[in-house]
Amino acid sequence: MTSSDPLRDPARCKELLAQIEESVKGSTLRFMEVCGTHTVALFRSGVHSLLPKSVVHLTGPGCPVCVTHESEVAAYLELAGKEGVIIATFGDLMRVPGPGGASLKKAHAEGARVEVVYSPFDALAIARDNPGDKVVFLGIGFETTTPTVAATVRIARQEGLKNFLVMPFHKLVPPALDALLSDPDMAVEGFMLPGHVSAIIGMEPYRPLAERYRIPAVVAGFEPVDLLQAILLMAEMKRQGKPKVINNYKRVVADEGNPKARAIVAEVYKPVDALWRGIGTIPLSGLGFTDAYRAYDAFEVLGVELKASKPLPGCRCGEVLKGIMRPDECPLFGKACTPAQPVGPCMVSTEGSCAAYFKYQIDLNSDR
Ligand code: SF4
Repeated sequence: MTSSDPLRDPARCKELLAQIEESVKGSTLRFMEVCGTHTVALFRSGVHSLLPKSVVHLTGPGCPVCVTHESEVAAYLELAGKEGVIIATFGDLMRVPGPGGASLKKAHAEGARVEVVYSPFDALAIARDNPGDKVVFLGIGFETTTPTVAATVRIARQEGLKNFLVMPFHKLVPPALDALLSDPDMAVEGFMLPGHVSAIIGMEPYRPLAERYRIPAVVAGFEPVDLLQAILLMAEMKRQGKPKVINNYKRVVADEGNPKARAIVAEVYKPVDALWRGIGTIPLSGLGFTDAYRAYDAFEVLGVELKASKPLPGCRCGEVLKGIMRPDECPLFGKACTPAQPVGPCMVSTEGSCAAYFKYQIDLNSDR
């Protein structure tokens, strides 16, 4: 940390910590971050361990790999190994455990054609090079990644490429926040809102949450000062009883978001009900293809269906994702489940809360 960078200035951080302490005096506040990058930033910067004990910061459903439902994992595993199918995926999904200990990594070792890609455009290139096969890109991610996938599908259509398909497992953040707040088990008093997602969707989709649930919410950046400012803003709104949605990341997030990116998504996809691990079906929280782009829907073209699938035995990812259990409270944490031998997806992804707790060796006796 150097004081030459105002967003990492130790003196400013100290000042903000003192203000937070003063603001929360006499109360305990439970805030949640809903972005895996925030989870990692809070731990890596040390902010998580510096907060007063009366500020409980929960990790939420902010890791796209983690929230991918077990039925969705079973569906893509069913496709892996099928004659004439190449699965193209981001690397994180390779080790996500599915039914009976299956995974893409195992399927690949057993001969399935699985390619790790860094962008959907790589998957498009694989489709061009393999005209006799169907290339299925696993469309996982929140509003941040969806525009690129939608743009890729548009290119496939413009090129007349018929063998590029997508399994649309995309998820939308605002409906998930709504579902969390409607859950009587949840006791969240403020949301640190995702910076990257907000850069696409803007501020408007969050406003009904503040009005309906009277909960403070702050769009935050990822530097230590950003994180502390967001926590202070939530604490102050709570103290004053004036909940609002605040954009505190204006250097990246425009209030109106990115209308161009949203227009591309709206051309290719439409909101549909979606399954979330640990939460279940959330109305209109996912994306399915519009009629004009149905020819790119792997479910429809290859006749795959989402089937009921049991949660992974012993894994408590569902409770971790809802913020009702800390990762280290899972009996398997650090014993049967480690990043080297993950039992559940929250230990696989670098943005998963279990993996972050393990990597940064969070004080397991802490009451945060
Ligand atoms: Fe699942 Fe492992 Fe996390 Fe437990 S520690 S909730 S088994 S991923």
